[in-house]
This record gives sequence, C-alpha cells and structure tokens, in this order.
Amino acid sequence: MLDRPAINPEETPETFTGNRGLDQEEPLLFEIGRLETTGVDVDEAPDVAPRLGGLERKGPIGLPGLSEPETMRHYVRLSRRNYSIDAGLYPLGSCTMKHNPRLNEKMARLDGFADIHPLQPVSTAQGALALMEELAHWLMTLTNTHAIALSPKAGAHGELCGMMAIKSAIAARGEGASRNVVLIPQSAHGTNPATAALLGFSVRVVPAAADGTVRAEAVRTALGPDVAAIMLTNPNTCGLFEREIVEIAEAAHEAGAYFYCDGANFNAIAGVARPGDFGVDAMHINLHKTFSTPHGGGGPGAGPVVLSERLAPFAPVPFIRRAGDRLELVEHAEGTQSFGRMTAFHGQMGMFVRALAYLLAHGADGVAQASKDAVLSANYVRAALRDVMTPPFGDQLCMHEVLFDDAWLKGTGVSTLDFAKAMIDEGYHPMTMYFPLVVHGAMLIEPTESESKAALDLFIATLRDLARSAQEGDTQRFTQAPRLAPRRRVDETLAARKPVLRWRAA
Ligand SMILES: *Cc1c(COP(=O)(O)O)cnc(C)c1O
Repeated sequence: MLDRPAINPEETPETFTGNRGLDQEEPLLFEIGRLETTGVDVDEAPDVAPRLGGLERKGPIGLPGLSEPETMRHYVRLSRRNYSIDAGLYPLGSCTMKHNPRLNEKMARLDGFADIHPLQPVSTAQGALALMEELAHWLMTLTNTHAIALSPKAGAHGELCGMMAIKSAIAARGEGASRNVVLIPQSAHGTNPATAALLGFSVRVVPAAADGTVRAEAVRTALGPDVAAIMLTNPNTCGLFEREIVEIAEAAHEAGAYFYCDGANFNAIAGVARPGDFGVDAMHINLHKTFSTPHGGGGPGAGPVVLSERLAPFAPVPFIRRAGDRLELVEHAEGTQSFGRMTAFHGQMGMFVRALAYLLAHGADGVAQASKDAVLSANYVRAALRDVMTPPFGDQLCMHEVLFDDAWLKGTGVSTLDFAKAMIDEGYHPMTMYFPLVVHGAMLIEPTESESKAALDLFIATLRDLARSAQEGDTQRFTQAPRLAPRRRVDETLAARKPVLRWRAA
C-alpha cells in the first residue's frame, strides 16, 4: 500500500473566495437569485379579466431568478457535491447501488418511448404496451408467479400494493375484521411495519435466532387466527438466506395467512431461485435495485409487485390484456375483484424500458451470472475483512451483502458513525449504518457485481487501513472526520429535531 501522508488541517488554508481548488462553494438559490431576473423571455401578459373566481395571486410570487448561464453553474456546481454510482463505489447494503448500463439510457431515449403520453389513445401506444407485457413476462418468469402490478412507483409503494391485495383477499373471505395482525421479523426494513400500520394492521414481531435467520418454529408460535400475513425478506437484511423459508410459507398458509416477501434483495437470487417456489404470495421488485435503473437522485423508482395465483384476482388496475392481436389496458375495476388503483397512470414507463433493456442485454443466463457475481463480491469482501472487523453471526457465507457489527471497535473510542465519516475522507460513500437494528452498530456492505476486483481490493485495503488506525488509537482520524468534505460534521440530531424546511432572509 501507498504511505498515507498525514493531513494537517493547518495546511489547508482559507481562501478569499471560499473555493478550494476547483471545488467551488455554492450559495443557495435564494441567496444569489434576484427577484427581477429570469432566464427566459416571456411576453408581457395581455390584460385579460381573470376567471379564477377571485383566487388569483394578488402580488408577485417572490421566487428568485437567475440568467441561464448562472442557473447552469448553480446546478452543475451542486451536482458535483453529489456522490453517485458513476463517481465511485457505493456500498450501501440492502440498496443495491449497481452500475446503470448506458444501453438502458439509449433505449429509454428512443422517441417512441420517450415522447409518448399516458393520455394518448392505446391504439397508438401498442409498442409501449408490448414492452410492458414483455417486462411483466420476464419478472413473472424469474419469480414463478401468476400476475403482476407494474404501476407501483417504489419498493415501499409496492409493499403497500401487495398488502392491499392481501387485505382485499382476506376481506373477500369474510375475515376482514378478525385477521388484523401482520408478523414481521425483528430484522425487517422499516418500510415493512410502516406498510402494515398504514393499512390498519397491528404488527407482531418475530424474533431472530442466534444465527440471524428466522425459525419456522418462531413463526408458528406467533401465528394465529388473527394473522393476515407475514412479511419476510429473503435474503434477509443481515445478508443471509432464510433456510426455513418453505416451512415458514407452509406454516403461514396452514394458518390461513398470506406470505408477503420483501424482494428488495432479489439481486442475490434472481435467475437462481424463484420466490414463487418458496410459497411467496406477493413480492415487490425494485427495478431501481436489481434491474439497474437509476436510483436515488438519478431517477424515479419503480416497484412492480408479483402476485401468486391466489392473489391474482385482486391485482390493481390498470393491467394489460391481450385482445386478438391488440393489447389493451384494463382501466376499470368494476365487476372484478381488483382492489382499485395505485397511481394515476400505468407506472414509470422510462424505468420499464431501462429494466427490459437490462434483462434483454443479460439474458436469463446473464441475470443468474450477475446474482452469483454479486454474492461472490460480498463474500470476497467478507473474507478479506473478517479478521479485523466482526461478523455478528459467526463465520458463515453471506449472500449479496456482508454485515459487520461494532464489537471490534470496542474500547477504541471510535463509533460506527465515526468510522463512516472517515470513509468519506477516503472518497467512499459509507455503507449502510445502524441497520439492521438487530445488530449493534451495524455496518452493512453491498459491493454488487459491477465492481472490478481492483476496485474491491482498494476498498478492502482502505477499510483495513482505517481499522488499523482505530486499533492503534488514532481516534482523531475518526472523531474529526470528515476533514476533507465540503462540510464537516453537521448536527444531525438538531437537524432531525428542529428541521428548518423554509428559507428565510436573514
Ligand atoms: C430499498 C428497500 C425497500 C424500499 O424500497 P424503496 O424503493 O426505497 O421504497 C424495502 N425493503 C428493503 C429491504 C429495501 O432494501
């Protein structure tokens, strides 16, 4: 490894402009914008009598404006502060920050896909419907399920959709009043209990076993005639495969409950195992995770939900139906058991194009290869760090993400948060921290299949160097971090407790 030169804050001088090298300071739009300025020329509005029933604006709106070049610079400078998967490794566990192939972007920009409008006649959008049908076919085949709702616009939205289908199915059985509990393992993502609560269910927590997985026995104990569903993630958020998943599904079904699977971690098993074979009744698929569509800042999410045969009749509208050689979009739920509609239109068309481009470029064998490589990458990182960091559940193989706790930091004066901040100084976006909650000071690393061995080796060497510093008592490297980021530590507690959501002139 290279010798790391010591950083002396005294040697990074203040500058007149506040800029550092070519890294420019950027004020808020409200601070630099001018009320009388605009980047576009618009004609003076003609003098017409308003027809807004007296609700028209009485004064100027007061939004600051900039010229076009000033606007460009403002947003380009801000965008340079944005860490992205295009800039570097982004090891955010459970979020699958993988490369977004540029072929996807090229396909999404084809006029026929980019310029269609959700209100144009279906007869003029047959190609788009065919694309959606093809994507639906891929997703149902990969999961071995019977129906799909493409419209949900994020993973959490997909959870809501799947659980609404379950709620409708239970109501159709006449058990709407009596089945009002959802079982959720301790290690679940926060969106799972939030979804259940939003739909009026109460949550019963299933404890995890000492090895980080859920036991069928624990599920059986928690099941009862009041249980509507279990929501389980597989692989779970500890990065481990739930080995008793089939038994858990059978137990839930025997007790009259449905099995909702959180599919956010599908990247570990896509093309290798089919959730339908585990007994899953509903599962959301994050196109912005497993299927490489932009994620976070870069684009809207898309969370299609696949449904088992038992839940298929309750799928939301709209859905695609074949009528002879035409495709039609079924828009109305009347006369069916469909629970209704999740969104105004049919979902995130641009993301459907990107996800299908990814699938067609990879093929079924390529999807399986990507999953296997993702698991290999995570285990490579695990094997390279297990002697310095502590895996909470012993030395077992992981799936697509590797979890460490903070036991190895004990007595060093360095916390998981400090460690993450020091990673920023080294040019890495930190891993997922303090999640899952079942593990103390959790650090969840998901390298994904798109990193080269060289990139993983540098990442590993960096973490080992940081670990050595922590062990040797160089606490400053952590507690003072980040030293090199545009902002040092912000008061996160104050920001959460007293968020300032409106700009006011000083
Ligand atoms: C990402 C994720 C979700 C939610 O997906 P969003 O698209 O962010 O709403 C749910 N569960 C798990 C395990 C996740 O990783």
